[in-house]
Amino acid sequence: MSKKIVIAHRGASGYLPEHTLQAKAMAYAMNVDFIEQDLVLSKDDVPIVIHDIYLDDVTDVAKIFPERKRSDNRYYVIDFTFDELKTLQVSERFNPKTGKQVYSNRFPVWHGDFKLHSLQEEIELIQGLNTSTGKNIGIYPEIKAPEFHQKENKNLTEIVLKVLSDYGYKTKKDNCILQCFNAKELERIRKELKSKLFLVQLMEFKEETKQLVHFATYADGIGPWYRQILSEKEGDKFTFTTLVDDAHELGLKVHPYTFRADDLAEFSSFKEMMQTLLIDANVDGAFTDFPDKVIAFLRK
Ligand code: CA
Repeated sequence: MSKKIVIAHRGASGYLPEHTLQAKAMAYAMNVDFIEQDLVLSKDDVPIVIHDIYLDDVTDVAKIFPERKRSDNRYYVIDFTFDELKTLQVSERFNPKTGKQVYSNRFPVWHGDFKLHSLQEEIELIQGLNTSTGKNIGIYPEIKAPEFHQKENKNLTEIVLKVLSDYGYKTKKDNCILQCFNAKELERIRKELKSKLFLVQLMEFKEETKQLVHFATYADGIGPWYRQILSEKEGDKFTFTTLVDDAHELGLKVHPYTFRADDLAEFSSFKEMMQTLLIDANVDGAFTDFPDKVIAFLRK
């Protein structure tokens, strides 16, 4: 894995509703290196590909099962069976309180016919396409909210590892990268569950950058928030923290999130973001909602 990799973040989610099979097929056709799967368990222990433990900001669950919300007024994936989840319509992401779509220039809310699906269904799509096209595009699954699942007496990690193994993803050669924000859980995956997969420790907070030496005892890479890499802007050039160099010295790959052409924050253009992080900061890959744009940039 020496070239810079492009990871389709929730699929080609800048163009189609996130984590739908359509968004994954579109990402596949863009020739990404990896396609991401966020994973949450259903009531009957099926790993569902969805970003949050909630259903009400990407589906019509509030309309179809109004009585099934919890006391916090949210609807949880874990309270529904796989068959029930399959009856829901999936939409472009919206604010459940206002109904307003989160990224206003993306695919319109409530258009099209989209459904939730399992990890198995998505792997069969990607492996099927690998067979029919002769390509070898990888998967990049994420164990979501392990503490929440444990509190609900659910073994998300064990179930996911079993599915991955059943479909041939067992070692670092098998084109699968497993990611998690929870450091204890990712360490357990390596040290107790003896996984031989390529593991990436996701990071969000500043204090975590002091944990790199420990992360390197079980992980093969880190997935930082891109702002953990930036220091400040001097004139029109950014300066960087030591995170990327420190990680590389420990042999860790660096795959920051999230490259969004329609959410630039401190960058004046998407090109500047890509140049700054991928080339100047020298990271090893990018989680992006717009894989075609990152691939076109890297090709030049
Ligand atoms: Ca994710």
